[in-house]
Amino acid sequence: MIRKFNTNNPAKTKILILGGGFAGSNVLREMQKQSERNDVEITLVSQDNFFLFTPMLPEVSSGMLHASDITTPIRSFCKTANFCHAKILSIDIENKHVSIIRIFDQKETVLEYDYLVLALGSKDNFFGNINIEEFAFTIKTLEDAIAIRNHIISVLECADQERDQILQEQLLRFVVVGGGFAGVEIATEIHHFLQDATKNYYKNIDSAKIRTIIVSAREGILPEVGEELGKFALDHVRKSGIEVITNTKAVDAGEDHVLLSDNTIIPCATLIWAGGVTVDPLISTLRCEHGQSGRLVVDQYMRLKDYPSIFALGDCANLVDSKTNIVYPTTAQIAIRQAKLVSENLIAEITGTMNSMKPFLYHNKGVMATIGKRTGVALLNGRKIYGFTAWLLWRSFYWTHLPTREKKIKVGFDWFLSLIFRADIMTVGFIKKKTLSRLETPIYSAIERGIDQSQNTSYL
Ligand SMILES: Cc1cc2nc3c(=O)[nH]c(=O)nc-3n(C[C@H](O)[C@H](O)[C@H](O)COP(=O)(O)OP(=O)(O)OC[C@H]3O[C@@H](n4cnc5c(N)ncnc54)[C@H](O)[C@@H]3O)c2cc1C
Repeated sequence: MIRKFNTNNPAKTKILILGGGFAGSNVLREMQKQSERNDVEITLVSQDNFFLFTPMLPEVSSGMLHASDITTPIRSFCKTANFCHAKILSIDIENKHVSIIRIFDQKETVLEYDYLVLALGSKDNFFGNINIEEFAFTIKTLEDAIAIRNHIISVLECADQERDQILQEQLLRFVVVGGGFAGVEIATEIHHFLQDATKNYYKNIDSAKIRTIIVSAREGILPEVGEELGKFALDHVRKSGIEVITNTKAVDAGEDHVLLSDNTIIPCATLIWAGGVTVDPLISTLRCEHGQSGRLVVDQYMRLKDYPSIFALGDCANLVDSKTNIVYPTTAQIAIRQAKLVSENLIAEITGTMNSMKPFLYHNKGVMATIGKRTGVALLNGRKIYGFTAWLLWRSFYWTHLPTREKKIKVGFDWFLSLIFRADIMTVGFIKKKTLSRLETPIYSAIERGIDQSQNTSYL
């Protein structure tokens, strides 16, 4: 039986926020901060009962940080608001209904709203390649980060026991597809972890045999930081021992190999996909205007065109920057700024002061990325910063954006401990996404899988 959510007071204006990431959580927090009206009822729905600080996710894979360091219970943000730990099934924007299913017992409920905030983020885009989707790890959720960690440690345990040199080399190849922030940050994090772990613990593995390979479809890496800094990042990443294959795409994969667009086969046991994002079908199938990758086209006040009571923001919103004519990228920094504006505009709408609504104007003060052990790149107010200073800036900037004092202390403490102690090599719990059930020498594997050997196929 589908239940209707019972609001305590039907006379209250109901605001429903879908998603508890950077966008949704910050709308909730800003709304509560800016308005203490008791005629408004706010409900946030998320399939995770915590807010995840994604910029530090790669550090969970490397064991630098713990999962609890970068997650905060959404309920801790709810001063007056309600929280529903549930998966959203459908959104009916004509009748103002949202259908949700409780995570614990799968019971379906329908929520009504007066104002809707769509903040459902993005998901990985495999561009229809089902083999890559099946065999690759992703780095989007906390579970992904822990699964990568468990997998790479299991691979080291396996390689330490493997006496066949070819198979050991295959186990020690780690391929990351994607040269953007997420791809470069996860590749550099795991590379340094693997180097340290083998030197400290795995006597039968020569750390020089570890090959971390980034496959980038572009000319270089980190297009977000511009040409000059991108070149610095590429040089530095290569100097640190990571191989970067540019102007190439991953086109297919199996359990023990990746096939590239130039017909090179990389025999490996680890493929991490950070090759692009798209929106969930919940968003892409809404009957309204869509932009890049199905994102929702919003006006300058962050409202859906033709639906003034619906706001969309963060990764699922499509807004063109009027200064550059380019759609705003999917970043946490932009989601946070949009959240502040959406909460102000929502309050203006509820209080009937629509004239005070403000358009979204974003002055990008800079971009930063970490690219290895104590090294980063940053572009701040047009100034290019490299190396240790950029890395320190990255850490300081994101540390100040952690949502609570408790998380700041935990992260600061773990960073400090990592300076003193060796990398930890325990696998965590049972979170496991892939099992390596076969590992064959590359040529045998390729023939068996029907890869055409006559097409100038080469092996890395
Ligand atoms: C590894 C990695 C590193 C990154 N590094 C940076 C960085 O350094 N700097 C930067 O600015 N950005 C970075 N980003 C990008 C940044 O994380 C996103 O742009 C940001 O999270 C967007 O916020 P959002 O609220 O729109 O989406 P999200 O933060 O993804 O939140 C979406 C929310 O919706 C919920 N949800 C989704 N579908 C459903 C459903 N069907 N039912 C219920 N709930 C649902 C999710 O549980 C989540 O709470 C990084 C991303 C990744 C993956």
